Amino acid sequence: MRLILLGPPGAGKGTQAQRLVEKYGIPQLSTGDMLRAAVKAETPVGLKAKAVMDAGELVSDAIVNAIVAERIDQADCAGGFILDGYPRTLAQADAVESMLAERDLGLDAVIELVVDDRALVGRIVKRAEEAAAAGQPVRKDDNPTVFEERLREYYKKTAPLIGYYYAKGMLKGVDGMDDIDGVTRQIEDLLSGSERKVAART
Ligand code: AMP
Repeated sequence: MRLILLGPPGAGKGTQAQRLVEKYGIPQLSTGDMLRAAVKAETPVGLKAKAVMDAGELVSDAIVNAIVAERIDQADCAGGFILDGYPRTLAQADAVESMLAERDLGLDAVIELVVDDRALVGRIVKRAEEAAAAGQPVRKDDNPTVFEERLREYYKKTAPLIGYYYAKGMLKGVDGMDDIDGVTRQIEDLLSGSERKVAART
């Protein structure tokens, strides 16, 4: 199964992706995690991406497309994968389509987590507090000021993908304001074809 999880920062894409990893035994490909690893390791990509990420802006399409193209050829992706935080621009959406077509593969679904923006800043602040309490590093971009920029980037560059995938008949919406288990159930239901509760855009 090959899925895309779409939604603004703080919508719960990472949390839901981890649950899908357990259920379907396919890896979560989070470009955010991959870029953070590159920043930490101070690779050439990491050095280029760091300031852009800290500012809440998007890293260039060329960089992320190359990271994903390399990652999907690894053995653990043979049975499928969950794209979390990628694609984030129309150019990336075109790139992933070509990448998959070149490999004779396709996407099974694009799942949009439909959320109320007003709840998102609170979620991000909570994520930062929980990471700090657990002694984990706190993401530099998980603060209200950078979050505003991340949300602006989302609306400018990523939200157009909702129309893009809707027009292709691939978009499935779930109510991302439900609790974590509820969102997981909605996703599982729509993947098994028995939608129980589906949000507006389906
Ligand atoms: P995330 O963990 O998905 O919230 O991503 C954290 C940051 O990494 C974003 O704010 C961007 O700076 C960068 N990033 C992650 N994925 C992408 C992508 N697909 N395209 C461009 N930049 C990305």
